[in-house]
Amino acid sequence: MTATIAGGRHDAAMGLALAEARLALAHGDVPVGAVVVAGDGTVLGAGHNARERDGDPTAHAEVIALRAAARAVGAWRLAGATLVVTLEPCTMCAGALVLARVDRLVYGAFDDKAGAVGSLWDVVRDRRLNHRPEVIAGVRADECGALLASFFADRRPDSAGRAPLAEPPTPSEGGGEPDALGVR
Ligand SMILES: [Zn+2]
Repeated sequence: MTATIAGGRHDAAMGLALAEARLALAHGDVPVGAVVVAGDGTVLGAGHNARERDGDPTAHAEVIALRAAARAVGAWRLAGATLVVTLEPCTMCAGALVLARVDRLVYGAFDDKAGAVGSLWDVVRDRRLNHRPEVIAGVRADECGALLASFFADRRPDSAGRAPLAEPPTPSEGGGEPDALGVR
């Protein structure tokens, strides 16, 4: 992994991701936001978690932002780009960003329950992969984490009944409870 300019440089982009995350609140989704930024600073795509709104298990912020960026570029390969997301990616999103060949991943809060970029697994820096993006973790982590914490604090009292949803427990869920940060 190459050494990088810590936090500062990515603070503004994380601000955009945070703004995206807040949009998820309007439809009752866990507030996670992402942006894809080109090498010259242009925002290529943005997205926020829309799993509940769309009834789509794959509608994570990162996937939506990567798809938007690929549409903008007109190609699936997003070399040179940076994916900036407020929460450590899950296994699906970590896989997606490797497939998109982004140069760099910047994320905010750590996800102890389902994080796949250092916490529970490390999908993107597996030495067996040909393409390993640079990773910068913990950018504006306090703000990113506080947004999630307040979301769960607000809904916890009345969310007991909907906890397990209709999903059977699967190993790929990472073992997180439906109520926990890990599960979006
Ligand atoms: Zn994900």
